[in-house]
Amino acid sequence: MEPILDLDFIDNRTPEQAAACDTHVTQETNTGKTRKLYIESYGCAMNFSDSEIVSSIMHEQGFDTTSEIEQADLVFLNTCSIREKAEQTVRNRLAQINYHKKKKPSMMIGVLGCMAERLKKSLLEEEKIVDLVVGPDAYRDLPNLISEVDGGQKAVNVLLSREETYADINPIRLNSNGVSAFISIMRGCDNMCSFCVVPFTRGRERSRDAHSIIREAEALVAQGYKEVTLLGQNVDSYKWASEDGTEAVNFAQLLEKVALVSADLRVRFSTSHPKDITDEVLYTMKKYDNICKYIHLPAQSGNSRVLELMNRTYDRAWYINRVDAIRSILGESCGISSDMIAGFCTETEEEHQDTLSLMDYVQYDYSYMFFYSERPGTLAARKFEDDIPLEVKKRRLDEIINKQRETSLARNKHDIGKVHRVLVENFSKKSAEQLSGRNDQNKVVIFDKKHYKKGDYVNVFVHDCSVGTLFGEAVD
Ligand code: SAM
Ligand code: SF4
Repeated sequence: MEPILDLDFIDNRTPEQAAACDTHVTQETNTGKTRKLYIESYGCAMNFSDSEIVSSIMHEQGFDTTSEIEQADLVFLNTCSIREKAEQTVRNRLAQINYHKKKKPSMMIGVLGCMAERLKKSLLEEEKIVDLVVGPDAYRDLPNLISEVDGGQKAVNVLLSREETYADINPIRLNSNGVSAFISIMRGCDNMCSFCVVPFTRGRERSRDAHSIIREAEALVAQGYKEVTLLGQNVDSYKWASEDGTEAVNFAQLLEKVALVSADLRVRFSTSHPKDITDEVLYTMKKYDNICKYIHLPAQSGNSRVLELMNRTYDRAWYINRVDAIRSILGESCGISSDMIAGFCTETEEEHQDTLSLMDYVQYDYSYMFFYSERPGTLAARKFEDDIPLEVKKRRLDEIINKQRETSLARNKHDIGKVHRVLVENFSKKSAEQLSGRNDQNKVVIFDKKHYKKGDYVNVFVHDCSVGTLFGEAVD
């Protein structure tokens, strides 16, 4: 069992997956630019993807990226506000960065992303070392903001936009293994889940021009990438129409267009909203071998009353209907994962049991699991009392984690004795003699290297598993 008491969330990813997801630091680019930019990105894949856009904008302004904070002229923290703990992590990090700034007073410090948007100008007053505060829709303004700071001012731009999708900006791939890349297909969120700060920090939902998405996928294929993940808070509500009204593309159609870019390119997507995922999407997944059979379908709770308080706009029966549709169209082997929140306002023990029984029903491959953290300004913070004691939240979270461990292990055991097509991403963390990749269902598979290398598709016979990993042998 992992300790949970000092964490505000737990998931059952492998250490490799966790390390790859929690904090990203820029890699070294040396193209002869005069100044150095260091970015640390926190939170979700959307933030990691945004940092690639920011790097591209700053590259035009004469900045190469660095992985060494001491080398940096400009330090950005691309932040997350989703839970209180995420913001506290950034504040602690700013205190550490103060040490570097003292040694190099010319170093500029910027806070980007959701925390910048939530706290706005007050961040400058609360965190004295911060020179600029920039919200997620204002990155094009970075060059002006940097010149203000160069001129001795502090700078803030937290304007949200109804149009900005950064469609024309060619992201500089950071932390890339050269095999998988994120493509952001939309921004913002129009759902108002009562616990969630995202609609306030990332603004209204808007979908990116489908042609620019396809061009980005084609460019990635030309550079040798083998996998793309289409990103949005609610990809199923993707909807783009050309200005002249002659073209309209929904998510299922976009998925098909990306799948057709190359049969050798794996296509993944995240996140699917249970209220919006359609059978059309499921049939499109079935039609194309290169669309991975894996769906991240956050339930949040298994109880209909709690779901209503959360304003998720579906109930338990609806969620189960969507899972049944996945199983009937894509089969038992389709991977399904979830996000779960333990101890939402007024949740009873019986209602918590409903979450556990939903987990029994669905048999998730894995889950991201959190206890409820009240966020200022959200509907829940305004309307409901955060009345579940912390120790009860943590105990319920612990029970959810244990349940997930059981189902992950059971699901992984089903994979034993079968051959899986694995896309190699890297060496295994434990040995340079072994490779690590993922199968269609997004599970990490470790096997002996032989003559295989990063970017290869390898058929692997799985003979063993743990809660988070499959182990096997390459077969020709
Ligand atoms: N758009 C995605 C969806 O609707 O499923 C989720 C995006 S959110 C960045 C990721 C997850 O954080 C949510 O699914 C939820 O489980 C969790 N989360 C959001 N707000 C939270 C809060 N106030 N307390 C605890 N967990 C929270
Ligand atoms: Fe937050 Fe709900 Fe939007 Fe997801 S769908 S980002 S949980 S408001």
